[in-house]
Amino acid sequence: MKVAIAGAGIGGLCAALMLHARGIEVEIWESAAEIRPLGSGLMLMPQAVHELMELGLGNQLATLGVDIAAMCYFNRYGQQIWRDPRGHAAAANAPQYAINRGLLQVLLHNVTTDRLGAQAVHCGKAFESFEPEERGVLVRLRDPRTRTLTESRVDVLIGADGIFSAVRSFMYPIKDELRFSGRMIWRALAESEPLLDGRSAFMAGTRRQKFSCFPVSGSLHTRGRALLSWVAELQTGGAVPPKAEWNRRVDKALILRAFADWKWDWLDVPGLIESSREILEFPIVDRDPLPRWSFGPVTLLGDAAHPIYPTGHAGAAQAILDARYLADCLQSCSDPCEALREYEAERIQDTTALLLRHRMNGPEQVLQLAEARAPDGFNGSVQGIEEAELRRATQRFKEVAGINPERHMPN
Ligand SMILES: Cc1cc2nc3c(=O)[nH]c(=O)nc-3n(C[C@H](O)[C@H](O)[C@H](O)COP(=O)(O)OP(=O)(O)OC[C@H]3O[C@@H](n4cnc5c(N)ncnc54)[C@H](O)[C@@H]3O)c2cc1C
Repeated sequence: MKVAIAGAGIGGLCAALMLHARGIEVEIWESAAEIRPLGSGLMLMPQAVHELMELGLGNQLATLGVDIAAMCYFNRYGQQIWRDPRGHAAAANAPQYAINRGLLQVLLHNVTTDRLGAQAVHCGKAFESFEPEERGVLVRLRDPRTRTLTESRVDVLIGADGIFSAVRSFMYPIKDELRFSGRMIWRALAESEPLLDGRSAFMAGTRRQKFSCFPVSGSLHTRGRALLSWVAELQTGGAVPPKAEWNRRVDKALILRAFADWKWDWLDVPGLIESSREILEFPIVDRDPLPRWSFGPVTLLGDAAHPIYPTGHAGAAQAILDARYLADCLQSCSDPCEALREYEAERIQDTTALLLRHRMNGPEQVLQLAEARAPDGFNGSVQGIEEAELRRATQRFKEVAGINPERHMPN
């Protein structure tokens, strides 16, 4: 069997490595001319880390990332609402790593070219169209710079080409618009003293305004420093900005104004924003869940199949879990089309539930509970919120996001 993957992001590269490990021939087509370390921080949930460890990447992850011990929730005054243990501290079967997205993608790309051979990864070739054939599928790819067309005949095509998936828009040419939450985020990296215990992620704020942050550099962590990946979020309303404006660099003054008085005894938020190198802007968007991802020998994976709000930091982990299920189904089923249907049946329910949870504000419900009960902050210890309520607010999200240690992958 031969499989083509459109998109060498986190999902596409993991799928390539997992298929190769199962003896399946793979080629990857990536529209970018080269793989460069882009993006700030990603959170890899324990189930996803387990899958990467199965690929033999445990040591590299432990060196690159930070083993996260807890997710801490704070109100807008910097007072702690709850501390929720994560990874081994929560008895999960693997650590939860926070990691620099760009470095993870470069690592996966290097490992893929080492194991599959450099000729398996074709950069500068964008998926353009596909045509099902009597046996398999004809894939057309175009070089965005020279406009040269390449054709490839394979048994299976996987669209792992992200939130603007061209494979998906080929399947669903109409009525599949981006859905804007009315909120914007600004992302950046900043070097700092370690915060909290040095191994905690946190989110703070209210329904309309949030600040979340986690350390992403294993090497700085071992030297007693931290590279913090932070996300500031504001309700702005309006329409979704055009694609060309995504990822644009913005003036710090814009965010500094909104967070000017977020100065707490353990963190000076404006100071951290001020010390950041470049701040990039994104809208919080998703697309409606799809009824189907698999059509004959073609399917979708990761953000192409189920783009979710980035606020729960769950997208990369879900793409990795998709890759594992898809590789297993293709290995165990003699009919590739049936394998793709099986994969879809395994994954579509959980990822749809996760997408909808994010629309209902996922784990941020903890912040909203605190805002509703104590809008002016806590007076002394946490008041009026039972731990059971806080647990309930995050439980279902944790189950579907792969954080819950009780829910392991079938082997
Ligand atoms: C540049 C970039 C920076 C990001 N930064 C962050 C971040 O800081 N924090 C965070 O939480 N998430 C970030 N994300 C999103 C995050 O990587 C994904 O949500 C998650 O990893 C799921 O990965 P994916 O492989 O499904 O999609 P992606 O990681 O988006 O990868 C999709 C890949 O497909 C390629 N592609 C697109 N169109 C085509 C085409 N027509 N043909 C072939 N290839 C195509 C893209 O160039 C990309 O390499 C970023 C994504 C990108 C692309």
